[in-house]
Amino acid sequence: MNIPEASIRNLVAVTRNLIYKHGHEVRNRNTLHPEIREAAQIILDALPATVRQKRLQPFTVELRVFPKKVSLRNVARARYFHTENVFTTLGAGKPRYLFCAHYDTSGHNEDDWNFRRPKAVPGADDNAAGVACLIELARVLAGEARLRGSVDLLFTSCEEYFKKGAIAFVAHLPQTDPGYDAVLVLDSFAFRRDKPLLGLFHNQEASQLAERIASLWSSTGSGGEIYRRVLHTSREIGSDFDVLRSMGAPALQVSEHSAMGDEIDGDVNSKFHTQGDTIDQLDFRVMKGVVDMLARFVMGE
Ligand SMILES: [Zn+2]
Repeated sequence: MNIPEASIRNLVAVTRNLIYKHGHEVRNRNTLHPEIREAAQIILDALPATVRQKRLQPFTVELRVFPKKVSLRNVARARYFHTENVFTTLGAGKPRYLFCAHYDTSGHNEDDWNFRRPKAVPGADDNAAGVACLIELARVLAGEARLRGSVDLLFTSCEEYFKKGAIAFVAHLPQTDPGYDAVLVLDSFAFRRDKPLLGLFHNQEASQLAERIASLWSSTGSGGEIYRRVLHTSREIGSDFDVLRSMGAPALQVSEHSAMGDEIDGDVNSKFHTQGDTIDQLDFRVMKGVVDMLARFVMGE
């Protein structure tokens, strides 16, 4: 089967647009920063014009703001932050897949864990790369008659703030929703290494899915290592995966962090959540491999 391929040139362009405004200034996509609205709009605009039903899913986050000195009059006040997920569907019918990537960033480092005055960080690997891959997948699959079933694309806000975007998504699913046949999350997987690495972690229900994804990865000729880890229900990894797996479908996250630990020496991405998570640290061949792999997956090759 002749499956259309992802374009590295497009992936670079979309990633760049998400990260920078005026060509060079880092756009503030920090979770809970008002400027994050611009990123949601960029995603909406970058999705192909032929994709129907692309839309924003607004939700509200309640924040507890604690004053420096707490007294009877001066207690924690609730404040509200309005933000949105971006959502679209490709194709129609069964099987039904959900692919998700978060578009907010976190400026978290040792001395700066501050939601109120966060510094803008590029968030290239975490997670502009994941967003760019899903947008490129939409372009590759747009108008593709051989797409089997449907793919819902979910771009979440507030992953970095207690996964509130994914929580809002699940909470707003209609009671009649038939559920998904597979859920895939892309988050922090494209940090450049000497040898490419595809890290997969998944729930027990997704063992077959992971095998299929791994074999499709090999079929793209992207090379490198594949690392797999099963996550039991009690184990949280602190990403949208934790929330989306609760829907009960086979769920898998593509992430280099699954490979952190004893098996592989050192941090995979030492620039995680810092100013150093820049576009030049990305391996666009890995990103192309992931898009090609997902296209083959949903076209049933
Ligand atoms: Zn992330």
